[in-house]
Amino acid sequence: MTKYCYIHPEKEAFKECNKCGRPICYDCAKSYWYSNTISAMFSPQKDSKQKIILCPRCLKREKIKNFIVTSFLLILIIGFIAATIAISAT
Ligand SMILES: [Zn+2]
Ligand SMILES: [Zn+2]
Repeated sequence: MTKYCYIHPEKEAFKECNKCGRPICYDCAKSYWYSNTISAMFSPQKDSKQKIILCPRCLKREKIKNFIVTSFLLILIIGFIAATIAISAT
């Protein structure tokens, strides 16, 4: 039985999304790998051996989640720096 990508019904499924389990084509998997490579550059501590594949929809959700976490951390860091400057200025 041949499965087809749920985003591109004309394309044969390459893998399944690790999150929702829906079949995705090579192009969809590729777009995940591409963004994963970019994010791996910013977080080298992340296990690069992970063979997780997400469909574009789950990837979008993950990106939003990552954005919230990253911006929260940034606010913390900026707040810490600002507090350090304020303390040293007095
Ligand atoms: Zn998915
Ligand atoms: Zn696809």
